[in-house]
Amino acid sequence: EITTIENSLKELEELAKAAGAKVINTIIQNKQKIDSAFYIGKGKVEEIKILCDELDANLVIFNDELSGAQIRNLEESIERTIIDRTTLILDIFAQRAQSKEGKLQVELAQLQYRLPRLVGLGKSLSRTGAGIGTRGPGEKKLELDRRHILNRITDIKCQLKEIKKNREIQRKQRKKNEIPVVALVGYTNAGKSTLMNKLISKTGSLQEDKEVYVEDMLFATLDTAHRKIALPSKEEFILIDTVGFVSKLPHALVEAFKATLEEVEYADLLLHVVDATNQDYEMQMKVTNKVLGELNVKDKRMILVFNKIDKIENIHIPSGEDIIHISALEEIGIDRLLCKIKEKIFADMKKAILLLP
Ligand code: GDP
Repeated sequence: EITTIENSLKELEELAKAAGAKVINTIIQNKQKIDSAFYIGKGKVEEIKILCDELDANLVIFNDELSGAQIRNLEESIERTIIDRTTLILDIFAQRAQSKEGKLQVELAQLQYRLPRLVGLGKSLSRTGAGIGTRGPGEKKLELDRRHILNRITDIKCQLKEIKKNREIQRKQRKKNEIPVVALVGYTNAGKSTLMNKLISKTGSLQEDKEVYVEDMLFATLDTAHRKIALPSKEEFILIDTVGFVSKLPHALVEAFKATLEEVEYADLLLHVVDATNQDYEMQMKVTNKVLGELNVKDKRMILVFNKIDKIENIHIPSGEDIIHISALEEIGIDRLLCKIKEKIFADMKKAILLLP
């Protein structure tokens, strides 16, 4: 999906930044065969070691998944903390998770990812890469033996089941009250959190929750956030923000985070937010639509929201019946969007009321 190595590395750099690391160098290895012991060639290992000494780097991130043995071998040779792409993403998730469920899901994913790699994780080197790759369950827990980790996994699964049951009850309650649900979906950085905050401040959220965390970083939205919104004409709906999609989401994470997207299945309307300034926006729309397809919600009512039009110059973006162009930041087109939302979710309801005796 991300075609060039440059784009893939650029995304890795964004991820590293999101985790709190400062990227000081990027190295590309042109090698056909992956070394089972070191992932990269011996010469490259030497080169990285020297570079780390020169640049005073304390962390090396690989843009792939590494085995436990590879991590141990690399750490012994390079004498730095080594982490792979999945561990990096898990670390970001661990930092951003807000709800109890989100935290448990991240911990579960981390433990499941570490378990088969335990054998390789050396105890000789303290993992000090600015904490990256060691957050979440905590460094101490790394030393727990397999049995303890397995116990913890069982425990987490049990707790998650309980939370899921409660959520089901809440959802039924909501259905009974017949408050429509509108879900924001889209690629990371499309502007979902910004739009959510704008809608809240413009219409007045009915709850006194704090604003959704917004940052120019990937994964600023990890947990599903709910707000009750009232339209100027008094109709109410629940607005939910969802985790941003990303291309090449590591397999280990897909299952763990599907639960966060479950909310989408119960939505009455989807707002698919697209960053119209991103040159890859068509690919990003495809990724999002693919995930929506997997969740079996492709046939849901949807408004395509092209965002960031304040920054667009001469770029042709599609328009049409269910397409709205907005700037969440500069508050352009928000009224039109609210109108469209109203039309989409309340039009049917109005008719039904008129038919009542
Ligand atoms: P999310 O990952 O989809 O929730 O995206 P965010 O809401 O966190 O926004 C990502 C970045 O895009 C932030 O730096 C926002 O300030 C920026 N952004 C969001 N909406 C707009 C917009 O309408 N115009 C411009 N220029 N930037 C925007």
